[in-house]
Amino acid sequence: MRTVDGATDQVVVVGAGLAGLSAALHLAGRGRQVTVVERDPHAGGRVGRLDTRGYRIDTGPTVLTMPDIIDDTFAAVGETTAQRLDLQRVDPSYHASFADGSSIEVYRDAAAMSTAVREFAGPAAAEGYLRLRDWLTQLYQAEFNGFIGANFDSPLSLLTPELAKLTALGGFRRWDHVVKRFVGDERLRRIFTFQALYAGVPPQDALAVYAVIAYMDTIAGVYFPRGGMRALPDALAAAATDAGVEFRFSSEVTRLERSGDRITAVHTDRDERIECDAIVMTTELPQTYSLLGRTPRRPLRLRLAPSAVVVHVGCAAVAPTVGHHNILFGEAWAETFDDIIDGGRLMRDPSLLVTRPTAGDPSLAPPGRDLLYVLAPAPNLVRDPIDWSAEGAAYADRMIGKVRERLLPDLTGAEILHVVTPADWARQGMAGGTPFALAHTFAQTGPFRPANTVRGIGNAVLAGSSTVPGVGVPTTMLSGRLAADRITGNPDGRPVRTHILGTGTGRS
Ligand SMILES: Cc1cc2nc3c(=O)[nH]c(=O)nc-3n(C[C@H](O)[C@H](O)[C@H](O)COP(=O)(O)OP(=O)(O)OC[C@H]3O[C@@H](n4cnc5c(N)ncnc54)[C@H](O)[C@@H]3O)c2cc1C
Repeated sequence: MRTVDGATDQVVVVGAGLAGLSAALHLAGRGRQVTVVERDPHAGGRVGRLDTRGYRIDTGPTVLTMPDIIDDTFAAVGETTAQRLDLQRVDPSYHASFADGSSIEVYRDAAAMSTAVREFAGPAAAEGYLRLRDWLTQLYQAEFNGFIGANFDSPLSLLTPELAKLTALGGFRRWDHVVKRFVGDERLRRIFTFQALYAGVPPQDALAVYAVIAYMDTIAGVYFPRGGMRALPDALAAAATDAGVEFRFSSEVTRLERSGDRITAVHTDRDERIECDAIVMTTELPQTYSLLGRTPRRPLRLRLAPSAVVVHVGCAAVAPTVGHHNILFGEAWAETFDDIIDGGRLMRDPSLLVTRPTAGDPSLAPPGRDLLYVLAPAPNLVRDPIDWSAEGAAYADRMIGKVRERLLPDLTGAEILHVVTPADWARQGMAGGTPFALAHTFAQTGPFRPANTVRGIGNAVLAGSSTVPGVGVPTTMLSGRLAADRITGNPDGRPVRTHILGTGTGRS
């Protein structure tokens, strides 16, 4: 693995999102003096939080998976997750409902899930589910340390024994096609392929290697930190501070000082100059290249992921049986990907993720009230942009109408607290108005994704969703560790500690 040459004692990390916090903790744990520069007044980045009308709203991710990666990050400075965070398991992981009125709870436990599948689609489906579960587990085992958690110096770095295993497992075939071998029921198949939305690629086109996302949430399980998702970056930042990391909040990096092929100092909009031996940049790719004064090798070929509209709703307390995460699959699910990826238009029959964070922590809403987070995948702004200033309010109403129709017929006292559209993500500086960065097409996967090293600059390393391994909470935290490895080398070739959960054992 290529690493930064020369001194690496003082490292500046640009951005205090999950990637930056993770890089800072790993670097501090390896004895580096770390300064994190963040333009916002707080840590978290896309793990946003909005306090309004007595509600504490998570505006970013809600589905938290792979707590082992969180453990590994705290362990970098000799801490444990439990010292900093009250992480609860969300079980069932999801409640999935379909346009024909059927529904199923998605359990991480093998026995509970196979019973649910048997009741939903019969004994053959339950048997197929168990075989799928084995396959997903093997895929994850073959993939994690050799592929997702690895630094690549070139596509040739892929040529490892893990690659042969992944190929034999069908990892380079199409995701939907492979899942179909195990699960015939089309509704059931959606539960193990809808995660292709996170990758920004239709399941018929996405590589089966991405089915590991289905392993992460349907087998390894979903978690929720008490206090809301922002509790995670808050806890990481507190651990980093205690480990000696210095934070400069409300400071935007405006310029990098360079000598030869090395960045020597970072300048901020507060007229501060911070010297560095190495730098980790977690900014969006276009901003990263502009700060570095580099032109990306293939600027026109990068394909952005689709975006999302998120509507935050306060309402009178709903029945306590309503789950934490609810997926409402629309009738036109098969067309959803066409609509939002190729067609650049709104879903004709919206499929929604409805999260009720107050199921995990009622203190996030005023007494007697609940908080709903309703997310609709939507096109990014690259192709035929929608005029969100004209359409946003009507679409938010339509989304709430769907929630009422499909999940909460007794919804009362609903008040829209906040709406975020692709135009808002663009105003926050996100390329193409998508918070999900680059799609995970084959050409933007693993060694073909923009690398975390920069040609011609010896001491700059990238982290975050635009580089390896990709978008998402666990992946961007891993990207921070991969960036730290580029600076210090990987101490004792250590893989990330992960539990393999396929048999239903593991963390509780
Ligand atoms: C609505 C939404 C839903 C999501 N849902 C999920 C989910 O359910 N599960 C999941 O796993 N993932 C989800 N994600 C994705 C996940 O949140 C992100 O992939 C991840 O948080 C990105 O972290 P990051 O550190 O790469 O980037 P960011 O969080 O964007 O961090 C970059 C930081 O850099 C700072 N910065 C930028 N420019 C400068 C500068 N010039 N100077 C100083 N600081 C700068 C920014 O302010 C920011 O804090 C979701 C994201 C969103 C927005």
